[in-house]
Amino acid sequence: MTAVVVVGAGPVGLSAALAAAAQGLETVLLEARPRGEARPGSRALFVHRATLDRLSGISPGLGEAVAARGLVWTTKRTLWGGRQVYARSYGASVSPPFTSLPQTVVEDLLREACDRAGVVSVWGDAVVSVSPRRDHRVRVRTASGAAYDASYVIAADGARSPVREQVGVSLEGSTEATEFVVVDVAEGPQPAPAERVFHYRHPAADRRNVLLLPFRGGWRVDVQCRPGDDARRIAGDPARWLPGVLPQVPDARVTWVSVYRFQRRIASSFTDATGRVLLAGEAAHLLPPFGARGMNSGITDAVEAARAVQEGNTGEYARRRREAAERNVRAAGAALDHLLARRPGQRVAQRAAAAVAPLWPRAGRWLDAAPYGPRLRSVQY
Ligand SMILES: Cc1cc2nc3c(=O)[nH]c(=O)nc-3n(C[C@H](O)[C@H](O)[C@H](O)COP(=O)(O)OP(=O)(O)OC[C@H]3O[C@@H](n4cnc5c(N)ncnc54)[C@H](O)[C@@H]3O)c2cc1C
Repeated sequence: MTAVVVVGAGPVGLSAALAAAAQGLETVLLEARPRGEARPGSRALFVHRATLDRLSGISPGLGEAVAARGLVWTTKRTLWGGRQVYARSYGASVSPPFTSLPQTVVEDLLREACDRAGVVSVWGDAVVSVSPRRDHRVRVRTASGAAYDASYVIAADGARSPVREQVGVSLEGSTEATEFVVVDVAEGPQPAPAERVFHYRHPAADRRNVLLLPFRGGWRVDVQCRPGDDARRIAGDPARWLPGVLPQVPDARVTWVSVYRFQRRIASSFTDATGRVLLAGEAAHLLPPFGARGMNSGITDAVEAARAVQEGNTGEYARRRREAAERNVRAAGAALDHLLARRPGQRVAQRAAAAVAPLWPRAGRWLDAAPYGPRLRSVQY
């Protein structure tokens, strides 16, 4: 019998498998996609310091390897209608507070670490059923007909989580009506200065809010659509507006465009009724990208799930990680509330802050920080 079967080899499943192997547990990782198959879509860029430390905790040097492949911006700016209301630069640090790189690179490094740690991984074979049994085992079956008996299953099979459905856990919460257009671009041979820039009412984007995030090798552009916008039309023709929004990258090459809506959803329970199937990452919670809590908190789930399995205390895992997800959802809600500014009072406060920011730096700092939600202590991700 296998100690742990991990379902899904996204960043959370790979981390869970690595953490379980680091605990000395015999681990099998099952993934539906063939190994090396590219995944479409924009995903995580921003990896927090606490996550880098967690990765090094389960595989010595892994956090450092991720940091070495990423980019740390040393300036952040906020503008209101094209006028700067806040800027801050910091010196480079030996121990960077975060790093910014494509999620695919993080996954590559995790996969290599899993191989080194002796995790048995099976690719291209989807899990089709997960059945907890009376003898404290969980029987896992795959599309190819293979069967595994495990003491525990960690389900990291993403937002649609077939395992979550199988064990009868629901995902509760809401999806916002507002759409965001996200564009990933690769920069040319002349890299632009690495600065995170948030624009309220960007003049070149018909006064929509725009976030510009650099990462190693490129930029992510998030455009917040207004009510009544045709997001697909905006997404369908980035060449029309991108040069005005990202003039610092004149040779930008668009690599991916998508439209997404903010979701705030949490699983009704982070384990099944027997406590032998644990949910982690997007199988357990969906969070808006602003604030970068999705993958970061999913990796904490992964590490804590492996520890809970080792200690046989999965009830405590379910309680603690659900509480963390609730905090993350509340923080994301505060960020969203600020971005959407639905109440007239909020709009007045933001306009007033923009007006007084040159004289009162605290107002500029508030405008700069608010789109990401309240700062949480790192352990809470
Ligand atoms: C635009 C955007 C920006 C983001 N930015 C950030 C950010 O900066 N920082 C951050 O922390 N987060 C961010 N996120 C969120 C982050 O991308 C997700 O939280 C993360 O991908 C979730 O990882 P996961 O491993 O839980 O799920 P996934 O990455 O979805 O992986 C699930 C895996 O399970 C596999 N699978 C599914 N079904 C089965 C099955 N039946 N059998 C076997 N395998 C199966 C899938 O093939 C997949 O490989 C962002 C998301 C978006 C959309």
